Amino acid sequence: MTKFTILGCGSSLGSPWITNNWGKLNKKNKLNIRTRCSAHIKKGDLSILIDTSPDIKKQILDNKIKNIDSVLYTHEHADQTSGIFELRPFFWQNKKPINIYADKRCLKLLKDKYDYCFYGGGGYIPIIKGNLVKNNFTLRKKNTQIKFKSFLINHGHIKALAYVFEKIAYLSDCNGIDKRNYKDLRNLKYLIIDCLKINPHPSHFNLNQAITISKMLNPRKTILTNLHTDLDYIFLKKNLPRNIIPAYDGITFNV
Ligand SMILES: [Zn+2]
Repeated sequence: MTKFTILGCGSSLGSPWITNNWGKLNKKNKLNIRTRCSAHIKKGDLSILIDTSPDIKKQILDNKIKNIDSVLYTHEHADQTSGIFELRPFFWQNKKPINIYADKRCLKLLKDKYDYCFYGGGGYIPIIKGNLVKNNFTLRKKNTQIKFKSFLINHGHIKALAYVFEKIAYLSDCNGIDKRNYKDLRNLKYLIIDCLKINPHPSHFNLNQAITISKMLNPRKTILTNLHTDLDYIFLKKNLPRNIIPAYDGITFNV
């Protein structure tokens, strides 16, 4: 059994913003408090993060995650990566560098920006080993393994990575999918997909686009993530088709 948790489902600013701006969100509903996008996969002893958001420490503590073996990065934007430094205690615990996986551009940018995490320096020792992600790869620990598929998706000016595993697809930052990859997104149990806001946006799917993609791919359930402050939880819940639901921080399911 694989347990999947959406650790954070907020847009780059989270909700509320640091200025206490709640936009159209009902402040009284705790499900509208959203940290930045990250996710967690647990199968047997295998514990894998997708992205290290600026909120990763709180997310790990809130979800009682005790260990991290690997991190899969979707792309280099700050809301997906800037918690990377928080991985240090897992390095101490594992007594070996944590394997991270990213595409070529993202890996280079991470190595440039967080050089001390990869190479040490300034009193720090290396805590991370960078790996180039492959289209198909397997992560293992003891008798447990998970097979992953990754492919590039459009995210405004850049490409981000989609990850597909155990009939789950995670596309947290996306405004376009190449038709050639539709086949990898059929027969899913769960599609987790970017749904930034109501109005169109140059680098994210909006609500109508996320619903259209979901209807076309027809997974058993779609979970909308990367939600901005115009998308109130109850508003979404009331207006979405039955098999599409809004994420909330800590939402979890097993496959
Ligand atoms: Zn992004």
